[in-house]
Amino acid sequence: MISSYFIFTSMREIQMVDLRAQYEKLGSEIDEAVGAVISSTAFIKGPEVRVFEEALRKYLNVKNVISCGNGTDALQIAMMALGLQPGDEVITTNFTFIATVEVVALMGLKPVLTDPDPATFNITPAAIRKAITEKTKAIVPVHLFGQCADMEAIMEIAKEYGLHVIEDVAQATGAEYFFSDGSKKRAGTIGTIGATSFFPSKNLGCYGDGGALFTNDDTLAQKMRSIANHGMKEKYHYNDIGINSRLDTLQAAILNVKLKYLDRFNSARRAAADFYDSAFTGCPYISIPARSAFSAHIFHQYTIKVGNGKRDELKKHLEQAKIPSMIYYPGPLHMQQAYRFLGYSENDFPVTSDLCKEVLSLPMHPDIEKEQLEYITSTVLDFF
Ligand SMILES: *Cc1c(COP(=O)(O)O)cnc(C)c1O
Repeated sequence: MISSYFIFTSMREIQMVDLRAQYEKLGSEIDEAVGAVISSTAFIKGPEVRVFEEALRKYLNVKNVISCGNGTDALQIAMMALGLQPGDEVITTNFTFIATVEVVALMGLKPVLTDPDPATFNITPAAIRKAITEKTKAIVPVHLFGQCADMEAIMEIAKEYGLHVIEDVAQATGAEYFFSDGSKKRAGTIGTIGATSFFPSKNLGCYGDGGALFTNDDTLAQKMRSIANHGMKEKYHYNDIGINSRLDTLQAAILNVKLKYLDRFNSARRAAADFYDSAFTGCPYISIPARSAFSAHIFHQYTIKVGNGKRDELKKHLEQAKIPSMIYYPGPLHMQQAYRFLGYSENDFPVTSDLCKEVLSLPMHPDIEKEQLEYITSTVLDFF
């Protein structure tokens, strides 16, 4: 069914993430960068890769950036470099994309899941503390939907118990964390290692798969660079067991263009979130996303909670009006078939279970137009 709205207006069709709108704005710059790589034929480890790593390193104000094939590999490389051993426990959140937990399990480590904060959706220091055992070796906070977890408190716990902290920055590249002393750092540069993704829909996305690791520890940086490249120290000498995980030169060239705009993209997302917030404030059935005092929110997702069991009906109502929406995440990880072996039971994570029934992510990207936001918010409010 095509809403009459689209027939009588010139409004662009609404997308969750409108990569075409972005390409229409950056197209000539991107085409030029891609063309240069193709004519150079340096597809693997071309100069653009180091140029991008250096640009991102400066942007993040961190000592080392190591690019790799994707965000999932980045998490795996981090865990390999830290020398985590089978049976070691890694504390993370039950409310995240599967990659976070998958990598832990794949390495033979034990994922220890925790219930997130129901307002910010992020892992909580209190739940981490409760989950610590003698086998705990690392914490993986995920900066979900574009907002940092409580890193200052998490780093205190890590220090107290001698744990590594791997920040999953896939949804928060560029987000700033504010410390209580007034200083600030970018997400992913606070823990032992930050791991991010450049999947096309992320805040900093390329045109395929890509990822990177950040660290202020030079020894770890060297190790991660080696692991990402077959464990090679110098040509055909292997000190570590590694994997093949590289950022393509073409993707690096695209990221070089897009990194320059990242702060502008993130502010545009925040402006869209402000619009949503003010439209929904006062609607008793909608909880707008909470914003932490210690983190700038860069709205990878704009995720509301819909009360009264009305979420799925609202989603259908939006669909009929040609407005896409997504449920991140529909099922708690501890109940997925592949993770039953962890031995959790259904009611172990009441916050996660409730969130899975209530969350709804609305269209959010830097090129969303005011007219589109007006149409989305009025369609949502019409429903209630
Ligand atoms: C996207 C994402 C990943 C994985 O990134 P890929 O590049 O797709 O492998 C990991 N963690 C979170 C939280 C993500 O959103």
